[in-house]
Amino acid sequence: MNAEKPNVFFQLEPDELIDITLKNNEGKLTDTGSLAINTGKFTGRSPKDRFIVKDDLTENKVSWGDINQPFSTENYEQLKNEVLEYLEDKNVFKRFAYAGALEEYRLNLEVITEYSWSNLFAYNMFIRPAEADLENFDKEWTVIDAPGFLADPEKHGTRQENFAILSFTDKTVLIGGTGYTGEIKKGIFSALNFILPVEHHVLPMHCSANVGEKGDTAIFFGLSGTGKTTLSADPSRKLIGDDEHGWTPDDRIFNFEGGCYAKVINLSAESEPDIYNAIKKGSLLENVIIKDGKVDYSDTSITQNTRVSYPIHFIKNIQKPSVGKNPKNIFFLTADAFGVLPPVSKLTSSQAAYHFISGYTSKIAGTEAGIVDPLPSFSACFGAPFMPLNPTEYAEMLSEKIDKSGANVWLINTGWTGGPYGVGSRIKLKYTRAMVNAILEGKLPSRYTYEKYHIHSVFGVAQPRTCPGVPDKVLSPRATWNDDKAYYTMAFKLSNSFRKNFEKFESYANEDIRRGGPQRFDF
Ligand code: ATP
Ligand code: MN
Repeated sequence: MNAEKPNVFFQLEPDELIDITLKNNEGKLTDTGSLAINTGKFTGRSPKDRFIVKDDLTENKVSWGDINQPFSTENYEQLKNEVLEYLEDKNVFKRFAYAGALEEYRLNLEVITEYSWSNLFAYNMFIRPAEADLENFDKEWTVIDAPGFLADPEKHGTRQENFAILSFTDKTVLIGGTGYTGEIKKGIFSALNFILPVEHHVLPMHCSANVGEKGDTAIFFGLSGTGKTTLSADPSRKLIGDDEHGWTPDDRIFNFEGGCYAKVINLSAESEPDIYNAIKKGSLLENVIIKDGKVDYSDTSITQNTRVSYPIHFIKNIQKPSVGKNPKNIFFLTADAFGVLPPVSKLTSSQAAYHFISGYTSKIAGTEAGIVDPLPSFSACFGAPFMPLNPTEYAEMLSEKIDKSGANVWLINTGWTGGPYGVGSRIKLKYTRAMVNAILEGKLPSRYTYEKYHIHSVFGVAQPRTCPGVPDKVLSPRATWNDDKAYYTMAFKLSNSFRKNFEKFESYANEDIRRGGPQRFDF
C-alpha cells in the first residue's frame, strides 16, 4: 500500500470525508450538520487488549504488568504485515498530522485508516499541519487503524480479535478489530507518555488546561467522567486543551492535541453551552440515537459513553497556540460515588503526591438488574492505562514541578453528595463551577487558618468553610448526609480502600508521600 495508489485517499478535507461516509451508508447528518456514526461492537477502549512490543528499546524502561502487557516482535511483525495486506486492495484514508503544540516536542504523524470517519476523527483530534508543511513532511510515527481486521489469538498472540499495539522501535500504533476512535488518540498519548519524559524531561499529563485573562494557567487532572472536558470549557477562560498536556522543563504547559473529545450523555445547552454549540458541521458524533434528525442525548441504548469530537477552534474562547505558563492552580477531579470526599478541599504537597499516585475515582458497577453499587477505582497518575513508565516516575516529576512553581493543589469531588450513589445525588455542576471559579479568582485562601478551613478528620484535607456561590452546608459532606455515624462508617471504608491500594507503592513512596494519606482505622 502506498500513497501513489488510486485507492489511497490522501489528506481529504472534512467535507470530502463526510460525503464518503454518507455515500457508504456509514453515517447520518443531524439537524445541526454534525456527522453521526456508530463505532460498532466497541464503544469504549479495551484496556485488556492493549500491548507494547517488548524489545531492546522498551524492555528495561516500561513498567510491565496488567496495564503494559508485553507483545513479541515476531507476533507484531506478522500481525502488521497481515493488516497491511488486508488494507492493500481496500480504499484507505491517509493523513499527516502533528501531536504536540510546541514544535520542539511534537511528533509528525501519518494516520492510515480503513474508514473515512475514523480519518475525520484524526483530522479533528490531532493538530492540522499547514498546507505548505505537507510537501516535505517528515513522518515519524504511524497509526494504522483497521477496525475490520480481526486477529486470530492463537496465531497472533493477541487476547482476542481486537488489539491496540504500540511499537516504539517501529514507531507505530497498530489497531485492529475495534472501531472505537478513542484508541487512535490514546495510542499516540501512550507513545508521548514514554517519549517525552525519557527523551525530553517533559512531564506528560492526563489533564485539561485553560488560562485566565491575567495569563494564569489552571490544569485539571481526572479519570474518565470526572469533568476534565466539562470544567475546562469555561467561557471566561481560554481553553488550552481538554485531555492531554505536557509540562516542559522551562515552565510551559502545552496541548498534545488539536481537538476535543467530549461526552454527550445528557448534554444540554443550558449547563454545557460551549460543547453543545460545537456540535455542528465538521464534528463527529459517536453512538448517539437520532430521532427525526435530532440527537436524543438522554438515550443511552447503544452506550453510556456517547461522544463527540471536534477541532478545538469549535470552542469560542481558545488560547492560540495551545500553550500556557506554569499552572497557578492544579485540580484533581474525582467522582466519588461514596459521597465521602468534600466537594472542594486544599491539599498539602504530601497529600498532592499521595492523591496523584492513588488516582481515585469510583465506578458504578451493575450487579443484578436494577441494583448497582459504587466501586472504588484507583488509577495512578489519573491515567495509568496510558502510562508506560512506573507511576512513581511521573509522580516525582509532578511533585518537583509543584514545589518549584508554587502551584496550589485542590481536590474537587464532582461525584456524590448527601449520601452514596443510590441515596444522595451527584453534586450540581453549577456548584462545582462556582467552587472552581472561586479558586481561580483567588477567593479561597491558599494558606490554612482555622477560621477559613476545617481539617477533614479522616482524609486530613482542608475543607473551606465558605465559598461564594455555594451554600455552606454543601461544603461539608458530613453535614449533607444528616447521619454522622453512617457518614464516618463510609469514610473509613473508603480510607481503607485507599490504604489497600497504596500498598503496591509503599516501597517506592517516601515518608513525605505516605504522610499525605488518610487516617488508619484498624485498631
Ligand atoms: P474523559 O477522560 O473520558 O474525556 P472527562 O474527565 O473529560 O472524561 P467529562 O467529559 O467532562 O469527563 O464528563 C463529566 C460528565 O459528568 C459530563 O457528562 C458532565 O455533564 C457530568 N457532570 C455532572 N455533574 C457534574 C459536576 N458536578 N462536575 C463535573 N461534571 C459533572
Ligand atoms: Mn474529556
